[in-house]
Amino acid sequence: MLLRCGSTLGYLNAGVELSEEAILHAIQLPHLHTLKLAHEPPPEITDALLREDTIVLPSLHSLTLATPTTHAWLPFLNDLRWRYPAAITPREPNQSQAQIGIHSTLEDLHCGGGEAPKRAIVKQALAFKNLTTLEIGEFCQDDRCSFDLTDDDVTAIAKALPRLQKLLLGHPCWLNTCQTTFRSLSTLSTNCTGLTNLIVHFNTINIIEDVKSLLEMEDPDTQKLREGPRCGVTSLPLFLTPLTVDGPEIDVLAKGLLYVFPALGNTPVCPGTRGTASSVWLRVGATISRLKSVCCPDP
Ligand SMILES: [Zn+2]
Repeated sequence: MLLRCGSTLGYLNAGVELSEEAILHAIQLPHLHTLKLAHEPPPEITDALLREDTIVLPSLHSLTLATPTTHAWLPFLNDLRWRYPAAITPREPNQSQAQIGIHSTLEDLHCGGGEAPKRAIVKQALAFKNLTTLEIGEFCQDDRCSFDLTDDDVTAIAKALPRLQKLLLGHPCWLNTCQTTFRSLSTLSTNCTGLTNLIVHFNTINIIEDVKSLLEMEDPDTQKLREGPRCGVTSLPLFLTPLTVDGPEIDVLAKGLLYVFPALGNTPVCPGTRGTASSVWLRVGATISRLKSVCCPDP
């Protein structure tokens, strides 16, 4: 059936498992802009199956991969044979060479992340420089956090994918063992100024010190960032992110969040309904709303 769809097919949502032959055909369709795969691993490709100048998925804008196959598909798509088809190995490809095919066209990448660590997926996803949406879904287990990114990893995302509008890196859990901090929020906001939707783990154990050090840091690079534009996130979904601050610390955190996300709106924070942190977060949200009404009242 797929083989008969021919070269005009633009949208393919493979609800049933496709044969390897069908996948091989699909990845060469010239006008395919949306591909959703639920089951299929990437094809085993020998040199005899594809011409060496093949551009894989030449027009793809949106790709959805299922949890069990994401870890195989992204390295397949980043294979140098398709990534730089004009620079066939053994010659090393020139990194400044214009990227073609999926590496220049892909804007939306939706990956099932499962409970596996996220870093390997993120590292592969950074090759798609024009992404506006990167989603790595799923929840952590109740007793084990699968979020293994650091602030440096998040900085790499922010610098490699400056066009991001939507970034979902798995739903924050209650364990507070993640290594990312408030600095990740700041880096994303200043580098990805088109960002409007953000879901990311950040550790809150030392969050007041983290906020203070960011607001008081004197080095020129940080000061330059302070003067630059920020992203347009209007509400921060927190899921189970824990928080144990009180008294004046609430004000410090509210100011820090408003500094990083100046577009925070009527519902500045959205904590999950489970867990005791939600009432503390709601107090932070109320403080953000009060600060906004004082500094920039509605007309
Ligand atoms: Zn977690």
